[in-house]
Amino acid sequence: MIIRARTVVTMDGSPIENGAIVVSEHRIVDVAKFDEIQARHTGEVIDLGAQALLPGLINAHCHLDYTCLRGKIPPQRSFTDWIRAINAEKAKLSPDDYVASINDGLAQATRFGTTTIANLTAFPELIPRIRAPIRLWWFAELIDIRAPKRAKELVDRANESLGTARLSGASTGLAPHALFTASKDLYRRCEEIARQQNALLTTHLAESREEMEMFHDASGPLYKFLKSIGRLMDDCGNTTPLKRFQDSIGRGGSPSRLRTIEVTRLYRPWIVTHLNELAESDFELLQRSESKFHIVHCPRSHIFFGHGSFRFERLRSLGFNICLGTDSLASNNDLSLFAEMRAFQKAFPSVSPEDILRMVTVNSAMALRQENTLGRLRRGLAADLLAVPCSGSTNVFEQIIGFEGSIRCVMVNGEFE
Ligand SMILES: [Zn+2]
Repeated sequence: MIIRARTVVTMDGSPIENGAIVVSEHRIVDVAKFDEIQARHTGEVIDLGAQALLPGLINAHCHLDYTCLRGKIPPQRSFTDWIRAINAEKAKLSPDDYVASINDGLAQATRFGTTTIANLTAFPELIPRIRAPIRLWWFAELIDIRAPKRAKELVDRANESLGTARLSGASTGLAPHALFTASKDLYRRCEEIARQQNALLTTHLAESREEMEMFHDASGPLYKFLKSIGRLMDDCGNTTPLKRFQDSIGRGGSPSRLRTIEVTRLYRPWIVTHLNELAESDFELLQRSESKFHIVHCPRSHIFFGHGSFRFERLRSLGFNICLGTDSLASNNDLSLFAEMRAFQKAFPSVSPEDILRMVTVNSAMALRQENTLGRLRRGLAADLLAVPCSGSTNVFEQIIGFEGSIRCVMVNGEFE
């Protein structure tokens, strides 16, 4: 099948005017100017006309579990109050509600041209009940705040559920929720499994001022709330969330094996979400650290919570791979990555539209270790793509970011959705 469009935005060099791609089975087998494609291939031509064809968008951080909480939690006085509010909402939901919520979120994301989601789920046992129209990486979200002594058991049980899901083709990973809800033992067990199974890991880190206050000063609303529900607070005071994270990971297992992983892969298995609250000492730590992790910024969730400014330029200049995510609808209006790109652009007007689009294609593909499969329109990669109207007059990347509405043409793995 040949798909022709006014502009083919490959994310792999300059956009191709009057371009086309050839899709066979599930893969892209050629990308070039339309006349060159016609000279090399025969077969059905789908002419998309005045549209830009681009790689499917990749949401690097989402919780489809909470799609049904849209509009249920207004902005709160504090991050801690929001945690209380979401806990109260979650208590009302049944497994069937979660399945419906995940399916709703998937339908919505597909309409917005998202073809892959890094999705955190609190219920990995529900994965076999979901038939996703797009690609999902299921990260089992883990919290052991009430039973830190059972961290290993908790992780292993979740990993067993993920194993069952993997048997039917699911891609999976582990997600210690955050330093304030998951113990050091839980983080270490997840790292051990990641080393054994070459698995991906994700976590929330340094999201709010209250988290910084908790670890740095052993005080504040989050500290008080967690203490009141029985969390051991002996890891708080005179540290930062990032320092605690660095102390929690990477010590287990054989040092030589760990070294090999670091040398062969600059990026550790961690996809770290938020990283809003960083002290000057944290930047020194990041600069000194040999290996990097991937960072996900969620622009509209960031605005919802009124977090301090995200240090994009500084983190990027330190060599971190930065992606965008939507977070959940408990702190956002919808699952549109176009809206995330626009919110990011508003906050960082000096970043080029092409670099912004990179954060939901190339960069997020790399975070999921799919740089050889997803994120670009290139020969040999999976045929995940979408088309948006494009006038040909202004910058195509600017037009893509400005797109509002539903996407009519979305292809995942060579099939139109
Ligand atoms: Zn999140």
